[in-house]
Formats: sequence, structure tokens, C-alpha cells
Amino acid sequence: MIRNFFSRLMYGRYGSDMLSLVLVCGSLILWLLSGLIQVDALSIILWALSYAAMIWSIFRMFSRNYAKRRAENDRFMELVTPMISKFQRKRAQMRDKDHAYFRCPSCGQTLRVPKGKNRISITCRNCGNVFQKKT
Ligand SMILES: [Zn+2]
Repeated sequence: MIRNFFSRLMYGRYGSDMLSLVLVCGSLILWLLSGLIQVDALSIILWALSYAAMIWSIFRMFSRNYAKRRAENDRFMELVTPMISKFQRKRAQMRDKDHAYFRCPSCGQTLRVPKGKNRISITCRNCGNVFQKKT
């Protein structure tokens, strides 16, 4: 009965996607923060943002405009994917106990060297710049 009601309610609607999920989570976090922060003005702003995010996510889920909602989600994913992969790379580097990672001072290339060799000179494999680092 209830399942029937929901499937009829959601029929032809866009439903949830990554952007909506992030909006719901963000809304909950903002709502919690607004309760924790003791500064009145800030707390009200966070509370308003929390409601705005919740309303926006509900609006998106019940929307019948598939194309527009999908385009929004695609744009959102384009924005966050580089951030996620950067985060994953950083985490992999943190977990790698055998290597130290340095950035070449002249070209910015990330270079991996074995750890525990004290001072070493590193030659950048991208631009050939040589610099000294402690590992
Ligand atoms: Zn370089």
C-alpha cells in the first residue's frame, strides 16, 4: 500500500542523484552546525542555507524535467571529480610508507623517491631540474 503510493508519487519524476545526495548530507551538516554555533547571525545563516539545500534537493527529486536535472548533475560531477581524484591521490601518498613525495620547484611535477635515505638530490624526470631534499 505504502510502496504503491510511493511508486505512484515518484512516477515520471527525476528521483535522486549524486547532487541531491550531497545536498541532503550538506543540509544535515549545516543544520547540525547551526545548532552548535553560538553566534546568532551565523547560526541563522547556516539554518537558512540548510533549509535551502533541503528544499532544492526535494525540488530536484520531484522534478519532471529530466534533461535539466541531469545537466545540473553532470556539471556538478565535472566540478567535484578532479577534487575527489586529488584527495584520493593525497591519501595514497599518505599511506605509502616506502616513498616520499616532492613537488619539483621549477615545473610542479610530483616526484616519488624512496624514503629513509636522508639527504638526496632529486632529478625531475619532467624538466631535468635537480634539487636536494631530506626524505
Ligand atoms: Zn621539474
